[in-house]
Amino acid sequence: MVVGAGVIGLAIARALQRAGRETVLIEKESSFGTQTSSRSSEVIHAGIYYPAGSSKARYCVSGKEKLYAYCRQRGVPHRQIGKLIVAASPADVSILANYERRAVDNGVEDLVWVDRQQIATMEPAIKSEAGLHSPSTGIIDSHAYMLALLHDFEDAGGIFLRQTAFVAAKVRRDGHQVQLGDGTEVLVEWLINAAGHAAPAVATLIEGLPADHIPRPAYAIGHYYALRGKVPFNRLIYPVAEAGGLGVHVTIDMAGCARFGPDVRWIDDLDYAFDDNRRSDFAAAIQRYYPDLAIDDLEPAYTGIRPKIGSPDNLSPDFQIDGPDAHGRHGLVNLFGIESPGLTASLDIADAISDLASGSAQLHRL
Ligand SMILES: Cc1cc2nc3c(=O)[nH]c(=O)nc-3n(C[C@H](O)[C@H](O)[C@H](O)COP(=O)(O)OP(=O)(O)OC[C@H]3O[C@@H](n4cnc5c(N)ncnc54)[C@H](O)[C@@H]3O)c2cc1C
Repeated sequence: MVVGAGVIGLAIARALQRAGRETVLIEKESSFGTQTSSRSSEVIHAGIYYPAGSSKARYCVSGKEKLYAYCRQRGVPHRQIGKLIVAASPADVSILANYERRAVDNGVEDLVWVDRQQIATMEPAIKSEAGLHSPSTGIIDSHAYMLALLHDFEDAGGIFLRQTAFVAAKVRRDGHQVQLGDGTEVLVEWLINAAGHAAPAVATLIEGLPADHIPRPAYAIGHYYALRGKVPFNRLIYPVAEAGGLGVHVTIDMAGCARFGPDVRWIDDLDYAFDDNRRSDFAAAIQRYYPDLAIDDLEPAYTGIRPKIGSPDNLSPDFQIDGPDAHGRHGLVNLFGIESPGLTASLDIADAISDLASGSAQLHRL
C-alpha cells in the first residue's frame, strides 16, 4: 500500500504495480496531486546544487534522464528549455564557480560559462556580469505527468482509492494491518508512507515506530507572481540560491507564461494563503537581474509550501527515505522531506523503492 497520491506516491505505486506487486494507492483528498505536487515551479532540474553523494543529487540526476525519456514516450508536455543562473555581483560569480564544481561532482558536465555579452544576446532583458548556462534543465506539465502515472498504474491493475485516509497501522508478523478512514482494515506486506507534509504525522500512527525515526516537520512557504504582458525571456532565469530555496527565479510554463518565485518564509502551520504584503521585497529581488520589472506587472498567482524536516536553524538538507535498514522494520518505507527536486527525482525514487521491495537492492543512504 502507498499512502499519498502526490507525484511521489503515484510514481512509486506505478513502479510497484508494474513490477508485479498488487498495489493500493490511497489519497485522503478527492483527487490526486492537490498538495505540494500542484504547487511547484514545474522545472526538471539538472542536479547542480546538491552536495555530492546526497540522495537529492543522485535521485535528481538519474531521475532527470528517466523523466525526459518518460515524457517523450508517454507524450507528456515538456520542453528542454535550458536555464541561466546569473551573477548580480562579483561575489555571486564565486558562488557560480562553486555550483559548477558541485555539478561536475554530481555528474552534470554540460554547464557552460557565459559572459556579459553572451547574456545580452541570449537574454536581452537580463542584467548580469556572468552566468552559467544549464542546457539540460527543462519544464514539464506536472499535472499531465501525474495523470500519465495514474493511467499507467491503473492500466497495470493498480487500485486508486480517493477520499481514503490512512488512520493507523499495527505490526503483524507478515506485514502491517492498516486502518483506513472508513474503518476498513487491510493487511499489507509493504507500507509506503508518501504523505508529503503529513509523512511525519502518518509515521507517528504506525505502531511501535521509535520517535527518533520521525523527524519534525517544518514549513517554508514560497509565493509565485505571474508576469503581466509579453514574456521577455527565452529560458529559465535563476539568481544564486538563498537559504531554504533556489532564489526568486523566472519560470516559464508550457503555455509560455512567465512567473516569478518562490520566496522563502517560515510559517508555523500549513496555510497556503497568499500574502501580498512583501511585494516590494519580491520585486527588489527580481530587479537585481531584471531591472525593467515594474512592480505593478506582478500578479499574485499561488503559493507552495516546502516539506522541510528539522527546524529553521537546523534543517536536514537531504531527502530522508527510511527503509528497513534505517528503522529495522520489515516492509515499511517512510519518505520525509521530499522537497525540490522531488518532481524531477520521482521516477528514480520509485525505482529504488520497487527494487527494495523486490529484495534486489538497498536504499541509497548517506
Ligand atoms: C514551492 C515549491 C517549488 C518546487 N519546485 C520544484 C521544481 O521546480 N522541480 C522539482 O523537481 N521539484 C520541485 N518541488 C518539489 C516537488 O514539488 C515535491 O518534491 C513533490 O511535489 C512532493 O510530492 P509528494 O508526493 O511527496 O507530496 P504531495 O504532493 O504533498 O503528496 C502527498 C499526498 O499525501 C496525501 N496525504 C496526506 N496525509 C494522508 C493520509 N493520512 N492518508 C492518505 N493520504 C494522505 C496528501 O493529500 C497529498 O496528496 C517544489 C516544491 C515546492 C514546495
